[in-house]
Amino acid sequence: MLLPFVYEALPSRVVFGAGSLQKLPEEIDRLGATRALVLCTPEQRAIGADIVVMLGARSAGVFDGAVMHVPAEVAAAARERATRVGADCCVAIGGGSTTGLAKAIALTAKLPILAIPTTYAGSEMTPIWGITEGGVKKTGRDVLVLPKTVIYDPVLTTSLPVGLSVTSGINAIAHCVEALYSKDANPIISLIAEEGIRALASGLREVVKQLGNMDARSRALYGAWLGGVSLGAVGMALHHKLCHTLGGTFNLPHAETHTVVLPHAVAYNAAAAPEAMERIARALGADSAAQGLYDLAASLGAPVSLEALGMRREQLDQAADLAVQNPYYNPRPVTREGIRRLLEDAFEGRRPATPVTRSVEPQ
Ligand code: NAD
Repeated sequence: MLLPFVYEALPSRVVFGAGSLQKLPEEIDRLGATRALVLCTPEQRAIGADIVVMLGARSAGVFDGAVMHVPAEVAAAARERATRVGADCCVAIGGGSTTGLAKAIALTAKLPILAIPTTYAGSEMTPIWGITEGGVKKTGRDVLVLPKTVIYDPVLTTSLPVGLSVTSGINAIAHCVEALYSKDANPIISLIAEEGIRALASGLREVVKQLGNMDARSRALYGAWLGGVSLGAVGMALHHKLCHTLGGTFNLPHAETHTVVLPHAVAYNAAAAPEAMERIARALGADSAAQGLYDLAASLGAPVSLEALGMRREQLDQAADLAVQNPYYNPRPVTREGIRRLLEDAFEGRRPATPVTRSVEPQ
């Protein structure tokens, strides 16, 4: 039965395709902007400089200080630069950290953002911002920070190393997975999310064999876009809460933590969200959603245990305590005992033991 739902589309323009970076100057004109401040990380300084050259008179220079989790002092420095050079838009080229910095500027200076993602993080499709002060990341939602234009050029992702390609891609799969059993789930986003998993899984399977395979890179980036749309449209659940807790408290790496935890969060929710499980399994061409996700990660050479990420066994109890501290939506009620068991499985890297959720048909 089709249950009642609310669907709200977010306004953004997407320009997709190999070589689409060349359209940047005309896309800046389309925004009505004339002085673009280019943002990047120190590691991506060279590509930031290339963008400045490409923009010519439309450029207001480059700020190359983007770092993970948008520290407040970096946000303040970038805002000051934007004001000083009279920027009327930001071009963010890079991953979620660079897009996050552009959002911090947009939040106060109200400058439009043109984002050029080079990872699969998906931040460019969400109205979610985050700024870290005194070790605490404050987040919020404001449509003001949603990039007005996004240029997805898969050529830019070919320099992503194999490990980051895989874990960033599985991070994007996690956005799709949790959208399927979100409290705000709706038929449109479920179509998008299922297709996102299919595109990412099939793309990543080829990317690991040949990092420059443009067809595979295009499919993976297309899936990442769909993951970003899913993340921006509906609320997440247990998996994102666990990863946030593990990353924040034990300083575990972002995308790798998502990769390890995802099959276990899905196994935990399997019985409570059968339709979501069927969609995930179908998109992966697997018998079971949780096992399919685990097998995908393992076959791509990704880490499968929290121990491999540097977590210690004696931290599991504290992690379980923190994960149940504040109530939040999840399709299956969150219990201390259940979460402790989930974390133990993820720590050990066990393949989830879930019942078959559908009979498999070849894709
Ligand atoms: P990142 O942006 O921190 O990038 C990781 C590293 O990879 C950086 O050194 C970067 O310069 C480099 N890099 C990026 N693209 C590259 C490429 N094509 N080739 C070579 N190197 C490249 O990592 P991320 O995973 O994209 O983003 C993570 C951050 O984004 C986290 O802080 C996370 O919280 C945030 N995030 C926010 C949202 C949101 O909606 N607000 C969504 C997803 C992620």
